[in-house]
Formats: sequence, structure tokens, C-alpha cells
Amino acid sequence: TTIPFAKFLDGNSIPQLGFGVWQVPDEEAYASVASALEAGYRSIDTARIYDNEAGTGRAIRESGIDRGEIFVTTKLWNEDQGTDRTLRAFDDSLTRLGLDYVDLYLIHWPKPAEDLYVETFRAFQKVKAEGRARSIGVSNFQLPHLQRLIDETGEVPVINQIELHPRFSQEELRAFHAEHGILTEAWSPLGQGTILEDPVLTEIASATDKTVAQVILRWHLQLGNVVIPKSVTPRRIRENLDVFDFELSDEQVGAITALDVADGRIGPDPDLF
Ligand code: NAD
Repeated sequence: TTIPFAKFLDGNSIPQLGFGVWQVPDEEAYASVASALEAGYRSIDTARIYDNEAGTGRAIRESGIDRGEIFVTTKLWNEDQGTDRTLRAFDDSLTRLGLDYVDLYLIHWPKPAEDLYVETFRAFQKVKAEGRARSIGVSNFQLPHLQRLIDETGEVPVINQIELHPRFSQEELRAFHAEHGILTEAWSPLGQGTILEDPVLTEIASATDKTVAQVILRWHLQLGNVVIPKSVTPRRIRENLDVFDFELSDEQVGAITALDVADGRIGPDPDLF
């Protein structure tokens, strides 16, 4: 399988489809990252708070694949925002991963009530200047948070990783990203498995002879999103990668986008979390 790359504003690129390990305990993360790399994934998404940077890093190091061929993302946890804590937390993440750089470091949530995300991003600029995070971005940022970050730091985050799936398609943020050259990365791209029975999706799945999960991932790819589906089941890990041999029609893409509902969010509201 050849996975296409999406290009960042800073010149680096990320595989458009990667593998997420939220809610996967460390030992199991080791096994599932190994199985994802074996299946052909070359991008892995972890975070400090997932408590599996160690197993994830070990699977990457022991894979026999060149480090330069694997794209590694980790994220700064909320309580580590602020200059000194960020710099320390970044060192600790690298140590747990057992790597000397990550490809992408993200602010996990903006935490607007604490008002530290601008300062935190300046610390991110420092680790980027040192080459220890090749690219820096954010996660769960709403439009005003992005605007303020850009205005105050003069740097545009390369990516914003946000909740995005057919019931919550984030049209406004996607438009803002497009306008500013920020890539959109979809977390819970499969809606955590809650939308797999939807009749619109099952019908498109049978019309295209693909599974509903594959149809949803294909929809993301055709919108231009970067996706990081999660599974610990080797058969599904492979299934989620097998989405490059078919195409949805504009009409099918539109029908899936139309599944968006006002209360489609599954996770926390970033303004309040
Ligand atoms: P997801 O939408 O990827 O759904 C995963 C679940 O869907 C699996 O646990 C399984 O039950 C089911 N599934 C997966 N593949 C399937 C298939 N082929 N057929 C049927 N069912 C299938 O949900 P997620 O894990 O919440 O999100 C993916 C990744 O996004 C996470 O692992 C994590 O890396 C990232 N994430 C980031 C944030 C953030 O705040 N930045 C929040 C949540 C998740």
C-alpha cells in the first residue's frame, strides 16, 4: 500500500493515514503498533496522557524500519502547559519514547481558562528550533484560539487535530484551516465505532463493496483530512489501511457530509475542557 503524504506549511509532510493508540494500555500498544507497522502504517499518534509512549516507542525502535520512514506524533498534556513545564514534559516524552526527535508535537487541548497556550507554543518553537520536534501544531483548538496563536506568535501551527467524523464534520474549522494552510487531522475518525450502522453509510458500503469503516476513512481522505483510526484487532488494522483502491463519487461524499448534526460531538467541548 502506498499512503499519500500531506504537506505542511513548514515543508515537512505527514502520511495522510496513520494509526492512533488512545485507550490502549502500554503492553498492548507495543503489540498493536508493531502490527500496524507490519501492515504498512508509517505514522503513529500517541500522547503523554495515553500512558503508552514507552510501548509505542519500543515497537517503533524494534520494528527494523528506518526511523526516518516513520512519522511519530506525541502531545503535551494539559497540566504541563507553560514554558518550564512544557520543556520538561517534552524531554520526558522523548525519554519514554526512546527517540531523539518526534516528527510532530501537539498542544493536546487549548485550556483557554488557564490562558497558557500562547506561552506554551513559544516553548514549542524552541524545541522545533533545536530540531527535536520537526514540526509543531495543536489539537482541539477552536477558531479564536487559532487566530490568537497566529496573531501573537507569528507562527501558524502546521496542523490542528480535532474531533471529526460524519456526524461532526467541522465545516467552519475546516474552512479556516484551508484559508491558513493548516492541515486538518481527524481524531475519532470513525466516531469511535458509533456510526457504523448508519443506513446511509451501509448503503454506500454495499454499493462500493467496501466496509463502512473503509467508506468513512475514504470520505475523510477525499475531504483532504489526515486520519488516525484506532484498532487493536489485526484484521481491522489492515482493513483500515485498505482504502486506496476505490473512490467515492461527489454525491456519496456529499451524502456522508450531510450526516452532520448539531449535537454530533462525542468528546469534550474544547472551550470548557
Ligand atoms: P476511532 O474513531 O478511530 O474508533 C476506534 C474504534 O472503532 C475502535 O476501538 C473499534 O471499536 C472501532 N473500529 C476501528 N476500526 C474498525 C473497523 N475496521 N471495523 C469496525 N470497527 C472498527 O476512535 P479513537 O480511538 O477515539 O480515535 C482515533 C485516534 O485519535 C486515537 O487513538 C487517538 O490517537 C486520537 N485521538 C485524539 C484525541 C485528541 O484529543 N487529540 C482524542 C481522541 C482520540
